[in-house]
Amino acid sequence: MPLPAEAVTVLGNILGNRISLSRSDLDLHGRSEAWFPPTPPEAVVYPETTEEVAAIVRACAAHGCPLTAWGAGSSLEGHALAVKGGISVDFTRMNRVLKVNPGDMDAVVQPGVTREALNVELRATGLFFPVDPGANATLGGMASTRASGTTAVRYGTMRENVLGLQVVLADGRVIRTGTRARKSAAGYDLTGLFVGAEGTLGLMTELTVKLYGQPEAISAAVCAFDAIGPAVETVIQTIQSGIPMARIEFVDAATAAAVNAYAGASFPEKPHLMVEFHGSTAGVAEQAQGFGEIVADNGGSGFAWSSLPEERNALWTMRHNAYYACLASRPGATALVTDICVPISRLAEAVEETRADIAASHVPGPILGHVGDGNFHAILLVDPRNAVELAEARRLAHQMVERALRLGGTISGEHGIGMGKLGHMAAAHGEAWEVMGEIKRALDPAGLMNPGKMLRQG
Ligand SMILES: Cc1cc2nc3c(=O)[nH]c(=O)nc-3n(C[C@H](O)[C@H](O)[C@H](O)COP(=O)(O)OP(=O)(O)OC[C@H]3O[C@@H](n4cnc5c(N)ncnc54)[C@H](O)[C@@H]3O)c2cc1C
Repeated sequence: MPLPAEAVTVLGNILGNRISLSRSDLDLHGRSEAWFPPTPPEAVVYPETTEEVAAIVRACAAHGCPLTAWGAGSSLEGHALAVKGGISVDFTRMNRVLKVNPGDMDAVVQPGVTREALNVELRATGLFFPVDPGANATLGGMASTRASGTTAVRYGTMRENVLGLQVVLADGRVIRTGTRARKSAAGYDLTGLFVGAEGTLGLMTELTVKLYGQPEAISAAVCAFDAIGPAVETVIQTIQSGIPMARIEFVDAATAAAVNAYAGASFPEKPHLMVEFHGSTAGVAEQAQGFGEIVADNGGSGFAWSSLPEERNALWTMRHNAYYACLASRPGATALVTDICVPISRLAEAVEETRADIAASHVPGPILGHVGDGNFHAILLVDPRNAVELAEARRLAHQMVERALRLGGTISGEHGIGMGKLGHMAAAHGEAWEVMGEIKRALDPAGLMNPGKMLRQG
């Protein structure tokens, strides 16, 4: 049903000129980072307060108008696209850090604060927010996709780092979940329910997040391997030896080649590991050296480490450039980015089987991942106008998902479900997916919140 004119009038009364029907705004909110066809919303609204969000939700409920939240639009499964029409609720004007509590090491933020902006604001406090999904995403978007990234091996994902929320429900009620206490046994874990719900159950208008002390020292190390197996064995042994890694990343030979071409580097075109350690000056030196010994035991080569910022950055060049280097390796290509996560003991097998499938296909797909968590991505590079290539990339992605389930893992380690993984939810969850549908119907009976994502609706 098209957006009723009356709804536009009501929203205009609430927001003044902060409702946009301009073609450029609609197009901007109809595109994603991924391969999905553009689907512009019918209007974009820019609330500044929780009260405005509640009024928007009530107006949409009254007119049967779908609404989809928009953070930075960096999600990779078409999450923020208004595929059933209606309005896009853009949170970029709700971008204030409301309170930092240094003694308790937490902060209360509005959902449109980006992780980089939060860390700039925290600089003088000696604290930082560690979850790093690569893109400069918003805290609301990150919580809604239960994002993680390179640092999850040490600091956890958004699930572990959101203490509490303020949420506007589909009927316009405003609730608070959680507290600033570090633990609670008081009732259902509603914070956990909304974190990862992809805006299908409510709109977050405030988040309370954990902060951490900035490490006194950071060291980084890099090394190469002749094959994937020994690289993964190095990761497993490092975890088992209790060396506390802050990040441990894997890139395959194809990614190393792409970075060489993109950044004018000369890394050996082999699988690599990149590691970062956080701690005291002596601690990070000891950890890097301990890691070097495990690398040597597993036949790794080119081991180098440093705790000096410029040298650390140089060592991590490969990882920093990886995604865009992969994209640039096939000019004009769009990426279908896969995202499976398996128990770490099955990781080598999962990566090797995936590598073999891609090698037998005509679609290129460099592999990289957050191996400390058993999570990796194949960046499947397709010509967006070529339906045959897109079908082949989807077939490869499907095989990866089946592999993850067979090996005891998950269909998404961190990117979420959106539209892209919807077709795998029944296989992944069985009857539990039905329960998710019951929760959805209880909280959003009219199905107006981000329809078409995560759940099948009528
Ligand atoms: C180069 C690149 C690298 C990436 N690497 C990683 C990675 O390592 N790890 C990782 O986890 N992700 C990664 N991502 C994906 C992406 O950055 C994350 O999914 C991120 O969490 C999305 O945040 P966003 O602010 O862009 O949200 P959006 O894309 O705008 O929205 C994401 C979802 O959250 C909902 N939403 C947004 N705000 C709210 C709100 N206030 N209330 C309720 N729902 C809301 C939207 O409706 C949508 O369903 C990467 C993306 C890119 C482009």
